Amino acid sequence: MAYVISEDCIACGVCIDECPVEAISEGDIYSIDPELCTDCGTCADVCPTEAISPE
Ligand code: SF4
Repeated sequence: MAYVISEDCIACGVCIDECPVEAISEGDIYSIDPELCTDCGTCADVCPTEAISPE
């Protein structure tokens, strides 16, 4: 399982520095590499638009 980023992402960049395994990539909408994500949930806690949730 991995967390996923929805279309609610506004590309603010808050989550990318929080991920302990650097699984998040920049883009028009940010994305999470499911191979790297450890389901820690840190990114979901900091997202201002609640765009990140468990798949
Ligand atoms: Fe990174 Fe944790 Fe978010 Fe997965 S759940 S992308 S490991 S911060």
